Amino acid sequence: MTSPLIIDCHGHYTTAPKALEDWRNRQIAGIKDPSQMPKASELKISDDDLRESIEANQLRLMKQRGSDVTLFSPRASFMAHHIGDFNVSAAWAAICNELCYRVSKLFPDNFVPVAMLPQSPGVDTKTCIPELEKCINEYGNVGINLNPDPSGGQWNSPPLSDRYWYPIYEKMVEYDIPAMIHVSTSCNPAFHTTGSHYLNADTTAFMQCLTSDLFKDFPTLRFLIPHGGGAVPYHWGRFRGLAQEMKKPLLKDHLLNNIFFDTCVYHQPGIDLLTRVIPVDNILFASEMIGAVRGIDPETGNYYDDTKRYIEASVLDAEARYKVYEGNARRVFPRLDARLKAR
Ligand SMILES: [Zn+2]
Repeated sequence: MTSPLIIDCHGHYTTAPKALEDWRNRQIAGIKDPSQMPKASELKISDDDLRESIEANQLRLMKQRGSDVTLFSPRASFMAHHIGDFNVSAAWAAICNELCYRVSKLFPDNFVPVAMLPQSPGVDTKTCIPELEKCINEYGNVGINLNPDPSGGQWNSPPLSDRYWYPIYEKMVEYDIPAMIHVSTSCNPAFHTTGSHYLNADTTAFMQCLTSDLFKDFPTLRFLIPHGGGAVPYHWGRFRGLAQEMKKPLLKDHLLNNIFFDTCVYHQPGIDLLTRVIPVDNILFASEMIGAVRGIDPETGNYYDDTKRYIEASVLDAEARYKVYEGNARRVFPRLDARLKAR
């Protein structure tokens, strides 16, 4: 078997030039004082700035660690859908998505864009459709990130099974794109953003699907649950038992045609558990580098987020590894598959 293409399905533009953050801070100031509100055209980031920010960071590490393609979306913790109203989110999402698109144009072999949506708490999700359509049709995005809690830790949106979300699902089905279920920063001090809010959201999203019949309404809808699925694989027996008590079908029939997990688990025992509990067809390689955990593990001397090492050291055979690295990503992201075939 030829060696698989290593597709990292979870990367964010965490190293964007500082001008982006400066613009965002001016935008936030402009919510209180409209005279301060910057125009999108006031953000100046050149192609050289973008190249530099990628070559010195993500691309360097991809080459070092041996990954080929990264699905690249705006920085998750900066989505901050709770800030301002829909118009604030819309302007911000458009800017961030355009930057990821430009990166994908500059490095077409290595980066494929995934969009954030201009979500805003309590706002009709139909409002996200124009940005979604632009990102698919004009920018060549192959998926979206969907925030199940745009309030940033208050959890006051309906569950993912609610019709509130259906306009987005209808578009996902129409375009045959998956969504990574990904929250943003927590503004609730009870929840640390990456240490608890992210993992809570992963677990919560799974449970919202389990208790519902969402995938009866949308048999081809696909969700990628990041960070190794939060607590889900570890507590698989609990979820199986709960489903049984609720008279739901077996989880493999009820959810695993539609729900997938990434490998952003930052130690070997976690990956070993994930690959043992979850069928290999439902696991997609990812590192989320350069992200929440950037340090070196003193126990191994390697970066925590160098997740390819864990796959290499796992019990997965060559066929299973092909699925995790390449095959599953091509299946879950058909537009990525088409793009790779067109090369
Ligand atoms: Zn992420």
